[in-house]
Amino acid sequence: MNKAKFSSLNLPDALVSNLDSLGYHSMTAIQAASLPAILDNRDVIAQAKTGSGKTAAFGLGLLTSINPRWFAIQALVLCPTRELADQVAQEIRRLARSIDNVKVITLCGGTPMAPQRASLEHGAHIVVGTPGRLQDHLSRGTLELAGVKTLVLDEADRMVDMGFIEEIVGIVRACPRQRQTLMFSATYPDNIRKLAEQFMKNPHMVQVEALH
Ligand code: ADP
Ligand code: MG
Repeated sequence: MNKAKFSSLNLPDALVSNLDSLGYHSMTAIQAASLPAILDNRDVIAQAKTGSGKTAAFGLGLLTSINPRWFAIQALVLCPTRELADQVAQEIRRLARSIDNVKVITLCGGTPMAPQRASLEHGAHIVVGTPGRLQDHLSRGTLELAGVKTLVLDEADRMVDMGFIEEIVGIVRACPRQRQTLMFSATYPDNIRKLAEQFMKNPHMVQVEALH
């Protein structure tokens, strides 16, 4: 099969050559199926197995919509665990290497609040975090989400299974109504469907069975 190239998308050249240097020469199946709609600023629900390259799908989407010269949180990624949040933040930093001055921070539980408050005061463009700690920052007034253009719910099914639904609802409500919402989930049970109906606008659905 002739695999789709990143260069067939409307991505900045610098991003495409950085992808090449990362060894990402062609899109995985979920990237090929979701990136056109993501880059078109649509809401997208993507269902695919672990290891299928979902992080780059939403990572490229949010990197093309942020403005690095505006120091405000413009993209927010919710992950179920600290380990996953760290992995996602690392991957976004790798994807962002070709763009100057993009600041990505993680806000997760199990680490002290003070350094997180300090990095928020310093300013960031992209926040990756777990629902409990993000809600904690919101209730203390240390997290400002009014500038969010892209909201990502990564591993939404796991976050809901872990009992984070109330936190997720609170965080989504703190984001502007006018935004892009991307939801990634390995499964698509009824409670996830309801969450999507509540928070997403005419979402484009993509489902990929195979890994590549
Ligand atoms: P998922 O979130 O779907 O479980 P990840 O985003 O963690 O998957 O990606 C799995 C692995 O695939 C990572 O090691 C990542 O670097 C790699 N990867 C992602 N996209 C590509 C690509 N287009 N070409 C080659 N490797 C890729
Ligand atoms: Mg993932």
